[in-house]
Amino acid sequence: MPRFRHILDTMAAYKPGKAVAAPDGRSYKLSSNESPYDPLPSVVEAIAEGARQVNRYPDPGAVALTEAVAERFGVPASHVALGAGSVTVAQQLFETVGEPGVEVVYAWRSFEAYPLLADLAGVTSVRVPLDDERHDLDAMAEAINDSTRMVFVCNPNNPTGTTVRRRELEAFLDRVPEHVLVVLDEAYHEYVRDDEVPDGLTLYRDRPNVCVLRTFSKAYGLAGLRVGYVIGHEPVATAVRKTTIPFAVNHLAQVAAIASLAAEDELLERVDRVVKERTRVREALVSQGWTVPPTEANFVWLRLGERTLDFAAACAVEGVAVRPFAGEGARISIGDPEANDAFLAAAASFAK
Ligand SMILES: *Cc1c(COP(=O)(O)O)cnc(C)c1O
Repeated sequence: MPRFRHILDTMAAYKPGKAVAAPDGRSYKLSSNESPYDPLPSVVEAIAEGARQVNRYPDPGAVALTEAVAERFGVPASHVALGAGSVTVAQQLFETVGEPGVEVVYAWRSFEAYPLLADLAGVTSVRVPLDDERHDLDAMAEAINDSTRMVFVCNPNNPTGTTVRRRELEAFLDRVPEHVLVVLDEAYHEYVRDDEVPDGLTLYRDRPNVCVLRTFSKAYGLAGLRVGYVIGHEPVATAVRKTTIPFAVNHLAQVAAIASLAAEDELLERVDRVVKERTRVREALVSQGWTVPPTEANFVWLRLGERTLDFAAACAVEGVAVRPFAGEGARISIGDPEANDAFLAAAASFAK
């Protein structure tokens, strides 16, 4: 047997959201926080056109997309680093700080990729329990010590949908030592409607140790193409670029992301529709008697404890795939109205 790293024996594998089908064939995938909408025609066209060039390597610097992102957000192109999905950018961030003895602080439960990436990078995870489903920023600040090099704040938090607000986040950032990199993971930023939830891009500007992670996978509907980015000051973006595998962001992803920025109004109109459905789904759940944390993302969270897997199985019988975390709860993505109705029906009969 080849000898592998010990950490691989103890690592839980990432569990992707699964599709399920009801006996009559109905199938609703509410397990991966994807956009329920088909790609826009203009984006499909850009991909089809781009397909003609796939015998060539992509632009290794993704110059056009980097410039498009920089222009869209009013930041210098030198502050933008792209990756094959923001999970990959997160992995690169772990690589920029990771060596034995280093600690990385994040809330728990939060995005399930964090512990995997920490293990792979050979750093120690310091998990700070959520307080009433929200980040406990005071406890997170207290968890920082001389070994800490990075802190993740997932805002809104996956899987609970809860947020941290401007005042508390600023107070937290003021407490974080300058040598500790704070990553604001804003994968669901476009779904936020609470004015008190800050846009990380307003916070990073005068804070060299703060960066913002964003993705084209959720609101922009490009989950299948894998493209995300970090915006941070030059030392951060430069460090991330050094950890990039050559040609990481493929040509189709580059052209589709550029086309998506050009069609942003249409895409954000779809986000509005999801937000309306989010309100409807949450209110319906509450009137069914469920406790649902306020959510600013494209999903809701039900803390089901020991009933979690039973709940997921009951949803699966109705053709609804949800994302269960055994013993804790289930995350349910907001889909189109038909999918949401199927989920609400399953939830109603489970509650009874
Ligand atoms: C979905 C998600 C991501 C991004 O995923 P990519 O598809 O890799 O861009 C990043 N962070 C969080 C918290 C997410 O939920």
